Amino acid sequence: MKNDVKTPPVAQYDVCVTKIESLNKHTFEIELLAPEGTILHYKSGQYLKLELDVNNDGKPLWLSYTISSRLDADKPNKVSLIIQVASDFSGKVVDCLFAANTNNQSVKIMLAMGKAFLQTNLEQPHLFVAAGSGISKIKCITEEILHRNPDANINIYWSNRHNDDFFLLEQFHSWATAHKNLNFTTILESVQSGWTGRTGFLYEVIQQDHTDLKETQAYLCGSPKMVYGTIDQLNAIGLQERNCYSDVFEFSPRAEKLEA
Ligand SMILES: Cc1cc2nc3c(=O)[nH]c(=O)nc-3n(C[C@H](O)[C@H](O)[C@H](O)COP(=O)(O)OP(=O)(O)OC[C@H]3O[C@@H](n4cnc5c(N)ncnc54)[C@H](O)[C@@H]3O)c2cc1C
Repeated sequence: MKNDVKTPPVAQYDVCVTKIESLNKHTFEIELLAPEGTILHYKSGQYLKLELDVNNDGKPLWLSYTISSRLDADKPNKVSLIIQVASDFSGKVVDCLFAANTNNQSVKIMLAMGKAFLQTNLEQPHLFVAAGSGISKIKCITEEILHRNPDANINIYWSNRHNDDFFLLEQFHSWATAHKNLNFTTILESVQSGWTGRTGFLYEVIQQDHTDLKETQAYLCGSPKMVYGTIDQLNAIGLQERNCYSDVFEFSPRAEKLEA
């Protein structure tokens, strides 16, 4: 991953929680709005930090969430997030946001963070690999690429544990229908009743579809184990780590690099 691309300076804002929409039984899309006239500077693929008193103990926490939509030129004071409720803790995060929405209380955000934003040559093929809520970054980057180059070559692979973990499928399928060079593949790790999509590990499915990833630029979003495992497996068909972009490179560097 290259680190020489300039990013806007990090800044803090008070925002209102203007919308909370359920995407499936445990995933919520959150819309945050800064005061009129504010421009929230970020690059597609970056994340923000949200300050919430999650444990209701007067000790607010700063939590990281990927920005899920590209900067809207008509509403540059708006950002959207996709938050998955995977534990009591993330349940309380969403509860805090519902409370802020109901009580019209502002919350603090800090943005923008992360080096794994869209920075690649759109003439080259792009591979997007996401697990679970990692699709949030892929959605944002895809919106940006299609805006700049609707014919870009994009292959999106999204894996989840269960059939009903997927969301925004209509959006991704309609992109695949409208853009001849965009492919979208949903994957479950193992066969489940009623599932007609692909099954297996992400790298296995990608290897079934591709034989040469030498020129491919890859954005990977998920656990460190998934990201590093996928990169290592796909190296056999040419994927180069220097052509890969992921937040895990920053918050969970490879063990051997830590020791070096
Ligand atoms: C760069 C980045 C981007 C992310 N983007 C997204 C995103 O777009 N959508 C999304 O849903 N999640 C995202 N996350 C994860 C998110 O920041 C939170 O970690 C997540 O919402 C916590 O919920 P959980 O169910 O995973 O909690 P858990 O698995 O219970 O805990 C995960 C972490 O939350 C903290 N935590 C848990 N319980 C407590 C507690 N009682 N008090 C204090 N801290 C606690 C700890 O830091 C813990 O390591 C992102 C994380 C990072 C680093």
